[in-house]
Amino acid sequence: MRTPLLEIKNLQKKYPIYGPLGKLFPPKTYMNAVSGMQLQLFEGETYGLVGESGCGKSTTGRSIVGLVKPEGGEILYNGHDLTKLNDKEFRPLRRDLQMVFQDTLSSMNPRQRIGPLLEEPMVIQGIGDPASRRAAVIDILQKVGLAEEHYFRYPHELSGGQVQRLGIARALIINPKLIVCDEPVSALDVSIQAQILNMLTGLQKEMNLSLLFIYHDIGVVRYISHRIGVMYLGSLVEEAETEELFSNTLHPYTQALFASVPDVSVKTEKKIALKGELPVRTDEFKGCVFHTRCPYANDHCREAMPELREVRPGHKVACHLIGR
Ligand code: SF4
Repeated sequence: MRTPLLEIKNLQKKYPIYGPLGKLFPPKTYMNAVSGMQLQLFEGETYGLVGESGCGKSTTGRSIVGLVKPEGGEILYNGHDLTKLNDKEFRPLRRDLQMVFQDTLSSMNPRQRIGPLLEEPMVIQGIGDPASRRAAVIDILQKVGLAEEHYFRYPHELSGGQVQRLGIARALIINPKLIVCDEPVSALDVSIQAQILNMLTGLQKEMNLSLLFIYHDIGVVRYISHRIGVMYLGSLVEEAETEELFSNTLHPYTQALFASVPDVSVKTEKKIALKGELPVRTDEFKGCVFHTRCPYANDHCREAMPELREVRPGHKVACHLIGR
């Protein structure tokens, strides 16, 4: 049995919901942004995480790199439970766990030139001397399709595509093992998206990287991912290898999600239309996460949460009606 590079078990993260007077008063309730989330990520693989906006994809990704502090569950990496580490204990592991953001520019210091900006993570991690750090920056600039002359430029002087290349360079500069890519190319034109995705997959093979690829476009996720997980209301509802998921789409939510994308062909007897908004999941929420919008929901679905079970080799589904 393969050992995962990173494993998430029963992850929990809540956010407060305030009344009309905001933070003047205690929260009205708490929204379970992530609840019972589980995931395994293997060395060298790209795992695509899909689901509607607000389903908990980004919170899951940010928890891995330490930008969000979960209230419960485990994120196991290299013998550590990342959820239990303080900042000082987490710092050496940051070298292995990096993130590429949708809006790279806003995550950078506008007064810092690109050279020092890329050298900074190496300085923090105590890697190399000034000459070797500069050589590493020039090397990574070229690997991501930028030029040596960009060393002296400011990030705001770059085009949108070049900024995302810079974001990837910053994630790669300290040779990470895993990169969380949160909507990394969604703000770019389709042709630029394709160039950057091809570059990313090339670098992934070259550097044996694992990618957690969080993205709204199912077609792009299908193109880039080895396995895909489908999230709904803070939990994983289906997971399989990419082509297995598209050939045997089992969970009603996944069927509805795929049916909403015109160029994704889904083999299902009945196409499900996804109606209504994503409900808020609080501690009082009972049953299957999808029961409020599922056309097959019955009384049992409204009472009991189905567990994520393997119903075909490597194919897991959380639905009472599947695989029984
Ligand atoms: Fe629908 Fe019930 Fe399956 Fe949930 S468990 S997806 S509500 S049929």
